[in-house]
Amino acid sequence: MRLSEEGKQLLLEGARALGEDVGPHLPRFDRLYDLLTEANQQVNLTALREERAVVIKHFLDSLSCLLSGRLEGELAVIDVGTGAGFPGLPLKIVRPALRMHFLEATRKKLRYVEEASTALGLPGTAFLWDRAEAVAHRPRWRERFDRAVVRAVGPMGEISELCLPLLRVGGYLIAQKGPEVGAELEGAEEGLKPLGGVLEEVKAFELPFTGDQRRLVIIKKVAPSAPRYPRKPEAIARHGLF
Ligand code: SAH
Repeated sequence: MRLSEEGKQLLLEGARALGEDVGPHLPRFDRLYDLLTEANQQVNLTALREERAVVIKHFLDSLSCLLSGRLEGELAVIDVGTGAGFPGLPLKIVRPALRMHFLEATRKKLRYVEEASTALGLPGTAFLWDRAEAVAHRPRWRERFDRAVVRAVGPMGEISELCLPLLRVGGYLIAQKGPEVGAELEGAEEGLKPLGGVLEEVKAFELPFTGDQRRLVIIKKVAPSAPRYPRKPEAIARHGLF
């Protein structure tokens, strides 16, 4: 299904509220909506189906990562646990210079993201089908990225362990969270040390139209991560660093 005129207006206005003009990119968002709704009939990619919900909670919510102010330029970015391509696909559409790497453990989801990216004609992308725990120990990928973005993959302690070893020193983790993230950040100062991270900022804002409270947690990589991290999935789940 294509985006309705109302859907396009919603996206334009919402993006404007986030400081972005998506006018030039509307054809691609229209196409992305079509691809997503089409694929969602075959495989269950996302629970959100209503147009308004997809525009606000997937497209606009993904674009809100730009409020970090740290996604400008030709950066190597990894979207850890991208699912159906969020936040990576919308970010790549509006910031084509980003070298976007989509990491996803579920093959059918990653395959859809790759097909969608190709259909949208987005160059400068890579697709990694694996778990972050494995990818982060490969010399080709460890400490290689300028930025990691992550939405809805786990609590802060877990995603920090998955993402920070992928970042080069000087890079940033940008995690999309809700207002309850404060509790997840208890003990973060100590817990981030072996990963080489420091909590730099928690940026609060409201999602356009819904008024839903959102937080961007921004963690800076200031030193190499200890080689043993990330640990195996069971160890991370059983005993998080914080
Ligand atoms: N970021 C997307 C998807 C969130 S659902 C969004 O916000 O819409 C979480 C996704 O992360 C799932 O698709 C799951 O397969 C993937 N995932 C969870 N743990 C992972 C890991 N350790 N490595 C890679 N992918 C992971």
